[in-house]
Amino acid sequence: MKKFLFTATALILAVTASAQEKVYPETPEMSPAMTEFWLPQPKVVTPGDFATNTAPSDAIVLFDGKDLSAWQSSDGGEAGWDVHDGVFTVKAGTGSIQTKDVFGSFQLHLEWRSPAKVHSEGQERGNSGVFLQGLYEVQILDCYNNETYSNGQTGSIYKQATPLANVMRKPGEWNTYDIIYSAPVFNEDGTYRVAPTVTVIQNGVVIINHFTIRGTTEYIGHPRVIPHGDGPIALQDHGNPVSFRNIWLRKL
Ligand code: MG
Repeated sequence: MKKFLFTATALILAVTASAQEKVYPETPEMSPAMTEFWLPQPKVVTPGDFATNTAPSDAIVLFDGKDLSAWQSSDGGEAGWDVHDGVFTVKAGTGSIQTKDVFGSFQLHLEWRSPAKVHSEGQERGNSGVFLQGLYEVQILDCYNNETYSNGQTGSIYKQATPLANVMRKPGEWNTYDIIYSAPVFNEDGTYRVAPTVTVIQNGVVIINHFTIRGTTEYIGHPRVIPHGDGPIALQDHGNPVSFRNIWLRKL
């Protein structure tokens, strides 16, 4: 027994000794510069001025208060909405309008105002909407002291995502939307490989946080996934005289 213990101990010592003798490469010492890169440099963009409602220098201005030259009717003709006093207003019954240009991923800024005089309630009060790539609606609705189904409230991704807060200004006051949208990528079979995502900030408050859109925003029925490329920004004629101003977009 003693002999066995002696032999085992000797064997362990021998193995340990050979492991100590083996030399491995040393990991080079890191310097700060090894994890710093210089190219590409971010492009210089002059920010807009909130006081004067100017857009950032690289933005595409979609409405500057003068005319609807960047827009057309969603049916293809002239945009039939009224431009007045530096804003434009839904002309009920003339149909939705959309940008002539189409876009992929973007940052969109727009300002909207529901009528000062309240005529109705629920979904009939200051209803319009911003359709991303013409398909996915960010709801516009006057939800100031106005209850309706939560996934159809102001800033909802219509019937898909309930806003995280109700930050409505009073009827007749201007609201801002800043929308950050990433366009989808499709598989060959027409399903999403990468689904579209959206973040919505209303009046400086995040109300939709990087939500994964499930498909088209249907009034009746479930979302549908429809393969598409770049698409327009569309604004909804829901029969209510909602006004808009200061609309610009930056491609991402
Ligand atoms: Mg709507």
